[in-house]
Amino acid sequence: MATDYKSTLQLPETKFPMRANLPAREAERLEHWEKNDLYGQIISKNSKGQKFILHDGPPYTSGSAHMGTMLNKTYKDFVVRYKALRGFYTPYIPGWDCHGLPTEQRVVAALKEAGVGPLPTAEFRKKCQELSQKNIGIMTQQFARVGVLSDWAHAYKTMDPSYEAETLRAFAGFVEQGLVYRDRKPVMWSIPCKTALADADTIYQEHASPSIWVAFYRQDDPNTAFVIWTTTPWTIPANVAVALNPKFDYVELEHDGKKFIVAEALSEKFKAQVGWTDVKKGKTVKGVSFEGLKLKHPFMSHESRVVLADYVSAEDGTGCVHTAPGHGMEDYMTGRQYKLEIYSPLDDEGKYVNDGRIPANLVGLSTLEKGGKTSPANEAVIAMLKASGHLFAQAQYVHQYPFCDRSKTPIIFRSLEQWFIGLDKNNNREKVLKAIDTVEWIPPQSKNRIRGSVENRMDWCISRQRPWGVPIPAFYDESGRRYIDAQVIRALAKKVEKLGTNIFFEWSAEKLLEGITLPSDWKVDAKGLKQESDTLDVWIESGSSSFSVIKNNPDMSWPADLYLEASDQHRGWFQSSLWVSVVNTGRAPFKAVFTHEWVLDANKQKLSKSKNSMSATEMIKKYGADVLRLWASSQDYTNAIPLTDEVLTHVSNAYASLRNTLRYELANLNGFDASKDAVKPNEMWCIDRWVVIKARELVKDVTAAYDDYDFAKVYQLISRFCQVTLSSIYHDAIKDRVYTCGKYSVERRSVLSALDIVFNILVRLLSPIIPFTADEAWVYRKTDGDFSEESVHLQDWPVLAGDWGAYETVAKDFDELIALRTKTNEKLEGLRKEKIIGKSLEAKLIFKGSLPAPLKIYDKKELSELYIVSEVQLSESTGEFAVEVAKASGYKCPRCWRHVSHAPDVLCDRCERTLKTPTEHTHVSQQKIK
Ligand SMILES: [Zn+2]
Repeated sequence: MATDYKSTLQLPETKFPMRANLPAREAERLEHWEKNDLYGQIISKNSKGQKFILHDGPPYTSGSAHMGTMLNKTYKDFVVRYKALRGFYTPYIPGWDCHGLPTEQRVVAALKEAGVGPLPTAEFRKKCQELSQKNIGIMTQQFARVGVLSDWAHAYKTMDPSYEAETLRAFAGFVEQGLVYRDRKPVMWSIPCKTALADADTIYQEHASPSIWVAFYRQDDPNTAFVIWTTTPWTIPANVAVALNPKFDYVELEHDGKKFIVAEALSEKFKAQVGWTDVKKGKTVKGVSFEGLKLKHPFMSHESRVVLADYVSAEDGTGCVHTAPGHGMEDYMTGRQYKLEIYSPLDDEGKYVNDGRIPANLVGLSTLEKGGKTSPANEAVIAMLKASGHLFAQAQYVHQYPFCDRSKTPIIFRSLEQWFIGLDKNNNREKVLKAIDTVEWIPPQSKNRIRGSVENRMDWCISRQRPWGVPIPAFYDESGRRYIDAQVIRALAKKVEKLGTNIFFEWSAEKLLEGITLPSDWKVDAKGLKQESDTLDVWIESGSSSFSVIKNNPDMSWPADLYLEASDQHRGWFQSSLWVSVVNTGRAPFKAVFTHEWVLDANKQKLSKSKNSMSATEMIKKYGADVLRLWASSQDYTNAIPLTDEVLTHVSNAYASLRNTLRYELANLNGFDASKDAVKPNEMWCIDRWVVIKARELVKDVTAAYDDYDFAKVYQLISRFCQVTLSSIYHDAIKDRVYTCGKYSVERRSVLSALDIVFNILVRLLSPIIPFTADEAWVYRKTDGDFSEESVHLQDWPVLAGDWGAYETVAKDFDELIALRTKTNEKLEGLRKEKIIGKSLEAKLIFKGSLPAPLKIYDKKELSELYIVSEVQLSESTGEFAVEVAKASGYKCPRCWRHVSHAPDVLCDRCERTLKTPTEHTHVSQQKIK
């Protein structure tokens, strides 16, 4: 019986675990990092480095992060970890957006449940503050658990007194330039939230509105009417005009003994829509000639009249536009031009008020559409118009309509007094657009989105009728006159810096203004004043963050190097930050802005709206943070990002394959001390040099991809390297040398020297993406154990020492030799099918004909290893190049299984030598080195 040589082989062995229990082990590592203050160590390591400031946009303190927010935090973490490895000084201060309605609503619900009545405002605000603080604690743990490395202890909160003071100072900049004004005009109103909203508080979604065609008869000719079309029947009571395009031709349609006027271009469509067949076309007149004509309102006592407006289009409707200046922005502008009444007969709950003008049957009816049904107000108005014969037809009209992002109900436009910021005063809109040009937008097409949202936004409605926020620092006297002044606001900010904004709800105006000199033009005494109760739009607060967090902090540098958020922030934080910064400093608060799209669930719904998706915490428990991070890196963030079981299964497999690659290298490197055992590049086998050169190319390409924030490319490059270069070529080819050559033989040390270099490159390149696994592997390489004081995250970005450039030709030659493997493997497979051989080591390869140059340069034992055969023969001639295979001529060595022995069951020469000096360092053999 043959001797068993297994115990004399160098078989790979490691305690580095397989994938099991990944989530639990991540949690332990996190604890270890926190105990060792890894963040603090990285910061002090790079304290002399160039600064790179990624300024964190504050997520809302909702109490639970979904995967969309996690994705954003993860991208930020990729950037910060990468820059830190590159030696940048990267203080990263996370932020929290604390004020706002959802917190209020939860506090109200909790108080109601506890049977506590309404609290005084200051008390109520304290409850809101407590809830925000509690949620910050929960969400900090969630973000930290996914591996986000940051200065959690010094996070900024928009409810901190120092932050609130900075918000007020930033706001003072707007006041100083005279941009802040109060006016009565239509604003977007959320009925359930009982507050005005800004653009960024709304989302557009598909909505079916009742559309109606209504006749407005001429006062001077009761048989002739203009026909309007509207999708908001409830605004008919507030109609004061019908707008025509001055340039359009309008045609009289005779029907049922009456004449109806519509735009000629729309007349055929109109007839079809209302179902009229017996129509006679009358005369055609230009819109401009009807200007000023008086019309009878279908049921209100006030009159309506014809006005002209260029925005009247020939796309929808009749070309005669129902105009209610109290309920729409364009209508309002037209109303101002024609000095029309801005009539808006609704209360805060969106119900018709009893003002002596609204018909009794409408008073108290709500305009709120909910549960997919139209509102009682719409129904009643339609019924009235039908009964009086003014309504010709009605239909469902599906369009994109703004919804309140909090209550998820359609907003209404409603006129009331609010504070506004005038965006066009002092050329500010132009200045913001110019500032946009100074910023790098990633991806480049996002520049159009920010330009579009700056160009199109209306004057900024900044007052909210809610208590949980930073109060608008204005005052009013007994007559209701409003006072606001930049110097007064700055003096108040000093008080707020110490005491917080609750003093606005605890103190009288007199006490608030104590010690503050009032501007002489106020001509009032503080005693006669009251403070404003509205609060500022929270976007002004978060938009001031770069001042509070970076500009005022000497440890940082302003403007920030990067803002990184989801693409909806073009309307939100990017924009508010631009306005606040440009108005106060004349320049953008960021040098570059990186946006990514939204995460969609299996039903292609945004995760923020998805009902069935798992919370981020559940996902981490199931998959582990590194799998989710790998998923984040693998996705094309310029399009909507799918998060489904299929995608996660795929990424999970990719993770397992990466982990196995690291594990294989660790198992072989076990016991290899590079400082003592490594061989120099010129002593290495050529394939070992080849893999190092490949790893060096990988570093170059991956570095460029990280610099471009192209994480999907990082993922692809590393995955391909692991799967192709390592798993299917290199790891396969080196098995013979690593397992069977002497532990300290130069052949074996050559492989391990290359593996050590490759491993150290791989874990560093992977560490921003899968920080837990990379650190775990790195520590195992150092200690063969779980934890160490040291960490891969405290290392430098890989730079290859030594003159590897000299071996680029070797690498090219090996690329050529490796390309031949397709042919050699095919031939070997043929021999296997014929049952002539089992393993490829039982075969020899014969290269015939005009041979590719590299075949003639390199040592045959290297070629045998590369093709995993026992022998390589060259038979050069002028004939065509061909590969042949045959059974190897030697006998199987019982130890290395290569067919190179002289007789059966006899050790080959190499194994014989190896067993004589199994543990001694051997000298470099005289190999053929190019
Ligand atoms: Zn052998």
